[in-house]
Amino acid sequence: MRGLINLYSDTQTKPTAAMRAAIAAAEVGDEQRGEDPSVNALCERMADLMGKEAAVFMPSGTMCNEVAVLVHCRPGDEVIGASDCHILAYEGGAPAALAGVLVSPLPSVRGQFTPEMVEAGVRFRNRYSPNTKLMTAEQTANMGGGSVWPVAQLDAVAAAAKRHGLATHLDGARLMNAVVASGIAAKQHAAGFDTAWLDFTKGLGAPLGAVLCGSRDMITEAWRWKQRMGGAMRQGGICAAGCLYALDHNVERLAEDHANATMLATGLGQLPGITAETPETNLVFFDVSGTGMTAEAFSRAIEAEGVRMGAQGPMRVRACTHLDISEADIRTALDMAERVVTRARKAA
Ligand SMILES: *Cc1c(COP(=O)(O)O)cnc(C)c1O
Repeated sequence: MRGLINLYSDTQTKPTAAMRAAIAAAEVGDEQRGEDPSVNALCERMADLMGKEAAVFMPSGTMCNEVAVLVHCRPGDEVIGASDCHILAYEGGAPAALAGVLVSPLPSVRGQFTPEMVEAGVRFRNRYSPNTKLMTAEQTANMGGGSVWPVAQLDAVAAAAKRHGLATHLDGARLMNAVVASGIAAKQHAAGFDTAWLDFTKGLGAPLGAVLCGSRDMITEAWRWKQRMGGAMRQGGICAAGCLYALDHNVERLAEDHANATMLATGLGQLPGITAETPETNLVFFDVSGTGMTAEAFSRAIEAEGVRMGAQGPMRVRACTHLDISEADIRTALDMAERVVTRARKAA
């Protein structure tokens, strides 16, 4: 029997034997004291990649986002970002709970907004209104279908934010997917942003870790928050070694994930009752309203056939391609989707 074809999330990738070998051989030290050579190497490499002065290793992407909010804002300040952005929708209300800030949604199309929307989102400076302090954007935009912001548009929204004295933060959970899809270097995507980070546990396939980059002063302040939150690590190089391995071996191959996503979306879109969004990277979103099933029912039915996907709304399902998924897996997943849809139509 074949195993589960897991398209639920690119976070569910498992480290390969070669990555585990790199992890086993890692040189380590006390990360909290700045003495872990693997963590230091990763941070230097990431600062360079992002075009920033400094970087700090974090246990997760969520911590990068929340520490950045803490660095940029004071209690009572306001963050603006797309209405379905991760900071607003998927971090347990941390901006309110930890930083005492409110996050206000900007309208967006495929997770992207315009300089005009930023302008409209900044409040008048007076003693009644919250102080709009930080603008954040996601590259790629997760709930925007893994869409890739054109770099010119990232620059334009960052410039609009700067005109109003806002700080800027780039959630680069899947930044390397955008780099591979666009052929444009990470530092160009990050240029308009004070802080920017990359997750190693998405399509890059490492077991743990994300790196937040910014100016030396911002990263000094980020380190203080990391320490306060208990995020300082000891022999963190065990994890950093997996991230370094990912940078060397798992970036260019993201193109295969993108090709598999296109193949999956094209095949799904040909099934009766399914409307698939056109993927730009490794995330495939599709609507199942025409099948007579809800997203939950569809996900349950296809999981029974050995393919896992995730309901992301009443009718919207997400499938992610990643390094544990082959072209043959996509063909099987499409066969199973067809089986599920056909069965539902017969029952109706
Ligand atoms: C996954 C994700 C995060 C959070 O990263 P974790 O490492 O899972 O904490 C933040 N932003 C976006 C856009 C994500 O997709």
